[in-house]
Formats: sequence, C-alpha cells, structure tokens
Amino acid sequence: MDAVQEAFGMMAEETLDPSDWADVQVLSHRVIDDAVAYLSEVRDRPVWREMPADVREFFATPLPRSPASLAAVYGEVSRTVMSYPMGNIHPRFWAWYMGSSNFTGALGDFLAAVQGSNLGGGNHAAGLMDGQVVNWCKQMLGLPASAGGTLVSGGSMANIIGLTVARNTKAGIDVREHGVAAIEKPLRFYGSDQTHSCHRKAMEALGLGNRALRRIPTDASLRIDIAALRAAIAEDRAAGFKPACVIGNAGTVNTGAIDDLRTLAKLAHEEDLWFHVDGCIGALIAIAPRNAYRVAGIEWADSVALDPHKWLHAPFEAGCALVRDAVAHRKTFAVTPEYLESTPRGLASGEWLHDYGLQTTRGFRALKVWMALKEHGVDKFGRLIDQNIAQAGYLAGLIEAEPLLQLVVPPTINIVCFRYQPGLAGEALKALNTEIMLRLQEQGIAALSDTTVHGEHCLRVAINNHRTRREDLDLLMRETVRLGREITAASPTSS
Ligand SMILES: *Cc1c(COP(=O)(O)O)cnc(C)c1O
Repeated sequence: MDAVQEAFGMMAEETLDPSDWADVQVLSHRVIDDAVAYLSEVRDRPVWREMPADVREFFATPLPRSPASLAAVYGEVSRTVMSYPMGNIHPRFWAWYMGSSNFTGALGDFLAAVQGSNLGGGNHAAGLMDGQVVNWCKQMLGLPASAGGTLVSGGSMANIIGLTVARNTKAGIDVREHGVAAIEKPLRFYGSDQTHSCHRKAMEALGLGNRALRRIPTDASLRIDIAALRAAIAEDRAAGFKPACVIGNAGTVNTGAIDDLRTLAKLAHEEDLWFHVDGCIGALIAIAPRNAYRVAGIEWADSVALDPHKWLHAPFEAGCALVRDAVAHRKTFAVTPEYLESTPRGLASGEWLHDYGLQTTRGFRALKVWMALKEHGVDKFGRLIDQNIAQAGYLAGLIEAEPLLQLVVPPTINIVCFRYQPGLAGEALKALNTEIMLRLQEQGIAALSDTTVHGEHCLRVAINNHRTRREDLDLLMRETVRLGREITAASPTSS
C-alpha cells in the first residue's frame, strides 16, 4: 500500500462482479438448462405440494456474513424455492386468477435485469420500449393513440392510477394542493357488488373512504343492474353528494361477468361521470376474435386497468393503466423536483416516466411483454384467450353431464363455478367441497379455489392458462367425483 492509500485508510477495492467470469458462465448455462427442463417437464410434477419442515426451516437461516460459492447458493435455491412453487405455471392450476408465465418472458426479465436500466426516466432505449408497449395496449383495446398510459406492477395499481385521475378530474378543486378535505361535495364512485377488493383499497388510499364506493346490486348473470345504478346516482345527487365515477367490470373475479360496457359508457356521459373499466381479467378479450364482442364499449372508457401478467402470461409483475386524456393523466402525477430536471440533450432529455404514476424508480417491465408479443404475434394471444373460454364451456358441459356435479353459474368467459352435490345442503355441503378442493391440492392433482356466488358456496376454476388441455379438465372431473365419493363414504354423517 502506498502512503496516500494508507493515509486515507483505503482498503483493496472490491466489486460484486465475479473474479472469474468463465466459472459464472458455466454455472449460468446450467441454470438455463435446468430452467428449460423445469418448464418442459412441468406437467409431470404435482401442481403443488406442502413443504417439509426442513424446507420451511431453511427460510429462517440468519443473515449470511461469509461468502459462499454461487454454485452452492444456486444449489440451495434449487432444493428449496424452485422445488416448492405456487404452481401457477402448471397446466392444472386454475385457482384465483393468475397467468401462467412463459419462457420468452422469463428471458426478457433476465435481460432487463442484466441491463439494469431504471425506467423512472431518461433518454435510453428501454424507456422508448416501455412507451411502445403502452401504445400496443391502447391498440389492442381500441383506445386512441393520443391516450396516456403507464406500465405498473399489476391490476391493483393500474386501478389506483385510473381512479386517482378520476378523483382529481372530478373533484372540482385542486386535490393535489388542498387535499380531499377541501372537496366541497363528497365524491361518490359506483361499481357492482362484484367489484374486486382492490377498489376498496384504492378508495381508502385516495382518502375518499370505503363508503364513497357504492356497491350496486347485480342481475341474475352478475352484471351491474343499470336501473339500480341510475337510481343510486339520482339519490346521491339529491342528498348533496357529487357522483364522480362509475367502474365497469370487464370480467369479474368471482364469475367472469362482464358489465354492459356500452350502456355504462353512455350513462357516464349523460351523468357527467368518469368511466373507468376494471379490465384486469377481460380487457384483453378485445384481441380474441370469437369473443371480442363481449367487451365492446371498452374503447369508450376514460381509463382502463389491464393486466398483461394475466392473459398475456407475462411473468409477474406487469399491469397497465390507460387514460384517454393524457394531459389529465400527467397532471395527476407529474412533479419536477430540482434534482430531476430535464436537459435539452443527453441522458436527461427523455420523457420522465415517473410523471405517470406513483413510483420514481421503475423496472423494465416492457421487455418481457414485448418479446413474447413479437415472438408469437398478438393474434396467437387472442386465440389463446378464445381457447380458454372454449375450455370453460367444455368443462361446464362435463359438469352438466355428471349427476353428482352441479354448475352453480353458467360461465360467460373462462371461470366455472360448480360443486360436488350428493344431496347435501348448507355447511355440510361447503365442508365437503372444501375438503375436495384441499385434497386436489394436497395430492398435487389440480389447484382450484372457492368462492360464494348468489349465497352459494362453490369451487371455482379460472382457466387462464396456455398449458391447459381438455384432457386436464377430464381428469379434474374424474378426480373430483372420486374424492367426493371417497370423502362421503368415509363420513358417517353424510349420504
Ligand atoms: C386480478 C384482478 C385485480 C387485481 O390485479 P393484480 O394484478 O392482482 O393487482 C383487479 N381486478 C380484477 C377483476 C382482477 O381479476
């Protein structure tokens, strides 16, 4: 060490880069080989399995202080995390509402991380690609090219973006400056009683409160009751509230019901309301040739939330908010602090993408979506959506043909609600179906979830999966009946 280094207490310099890239290269090839096998053999593994105690305990190991070889680290990841997945990439995963990812998207995420760019802003290629993917989303839904938009973490955040612009536009005051307490007439938002729970969180986060979102009853097919909506708006106006926004559902999470978006758009126009569409499930049906008619009217929305990590199967996370009035969108979020001013040329001359949402640093979400769209073309994604909807129809047919099974709601799109019904009622029927669901999971056969529709508990199959085949649905039916029989035979109290 020379005298200067010594004087400043300088230590030998370090980096996170490997000392030997060749070693890392060999290991990386192995990671890729394993990843390809992981996906190509996914069908042969259980959908899900419970973790043994030693795997659970692994996640309580303390903060590592000393180094380990990358090979050893990867070995641990492989034994633990990779071996006990949620299962949503499996062909028989139909719980809640997930996408099933894709390898090209995973490569996109890898490359995005290798480049490591921050999409908060700046003049670089990733920022342009981010804008391009937003433009493609507008095109897919039929929104004008002049609309604004942003990629976000998912549908919940996309809904928050849309509802925030709605609030600020309809508040009648400068909410950003004065806050919601300064709003003269309390704002009211409307959505059906099937509206996703993220809207409640949005209302709370927006400072309007849960009660500012009126849940409007639904008709027999679980679509918003338009007459009830009109009545609620009139009642609120008379009571001194300011009706501000109607949320249309393009695919509800319980059953996939799609509100009459055209009528809602007209009603919003007549009543001077913001028209937001929660299209996390169904907005992308707009690209599906056989079913696009179901979401007609979505192109008239003031804002739309959609979820590329659902029906475009982008690896998590990727949501998108679109706002017809790009100026209103920017006005809701743009702030230019002194440390983020743009310059006429150079790195800081690009668009500041953080002006369209709440995040400052933003990851490069566009690449995984872009690469998969380029590779397959948008038409194939449209056909895959049609395929899932047709599979749900097929499953409904199987259910109707089996006397021990009951279709609780006929599917509109890709969500099927049914139950095993050997002649029970109430809690006993619910307990039986819950047990079937749990055994399907624990035996690694299939992952379903459950819900309650029209007051009836049911098992719920949401087929948002490009790997599902009709034979998987045949198997689900056989196994459901087998388990139902097995459980009822073992239980002295049931028939
Ligand atoms: C999934 C979903 C959401 C929430 O989206 P995330 O991507 O999970 O944040 C909102 N609304 C509906 C209808 C959904 O299906």
